[in-house]
Amino acid sequence: MKTFIVGNWKMNFTVGESSIYLHKLLKRIKTARNLEVAVAPSLIALQPLSLQLDRKKIKLAAQNFYFRDFGAFTGEVSIAQLRGLVDYAIVGHSERRYIFHETDKDIRSKVAAAVRMGITPILCIGETANERDFGETEGVLKDQLLGGLQDVAKEDLDKVIIAYEPVWAISSVKDAKLATPDDIEKSVKIIRKSLEAKFGKETADKIPVLYGGSVNPHNAEAYLSITGVNGLLIGGASLIADQFDDIIEIAKKVIVK
Ligand code: PEP
Repeated sequence: MKTFIVGNWKMNFTVGESSIYLHKLLKRIKTARNLEVAVAPSLIALQPLSLQLDRKKIKLAAQNFYFRDFGAFTGEVSIAQLRGLVDYAIVGHSERRYIFHETDKDIRSKVAAAVRMGITPILCIGETANERDFGETEGVLKDQLLGGLQDVAKEDLDKVIIAYEPVWAISSVKDAKLATPDDIEKSVKIIRKSLEAKFGKETADKIPVLYGGSVNPHNAEAYLSITGVNGLLIGGASLIADQFDDIIEIAKKVIVK
């Protein structure tokens, strides 16, 4: 299976800054077999960046979209409109769930819409600090995982990526804590077992599971070495070219180990 390094730029950089930053990344990044690098810029930067891109080095991901294809939905952009621009789309990020109150039904519809359009959804799941403290991690992960995949046909599940992102470990969250490799391994086991129980081992084994939460060049190797982890979803550190590139170099080393 490939290793994925995905940078989520969130609501940062103007279009001009995005273009300059991508130019810098394209100059530095060296491709490697079995390594897939993608960045998720702001929606307005996707079109110009798609023209500037060398897709052999970096692919584009959407941070968000609406699940209907076209119609009277003022202010929304559909995944159908993003076709040709992005290869991936982040769905169910905790900022979408908790700041913008996206429901499980919205998330399920978005995952299915992306698959229908041939764009790989990166379904983010993860428990909050409270849920963790109350021992609800397993239940939350199963609900978000199986709920999010509910409208995807079994034969399409190899077109989906899961990102485990404990909300309490995301760097921008108040009082964020660093997840230990043990914490992550336990949750990834829950995710993999749930996928296996629901869809069978052969299908489950084809689904990459990424980790996200305060990843930086100091902890990337340890996180990438966790059994069952196939890559990283990176927020803050993906905004700094040196750090993002360092993480990519670390991933290359871990792949050949
Ligand atoms: C994120 O918000 O998806 C994320 C992983 O952010 P950070 O790396 O900054 O914790």
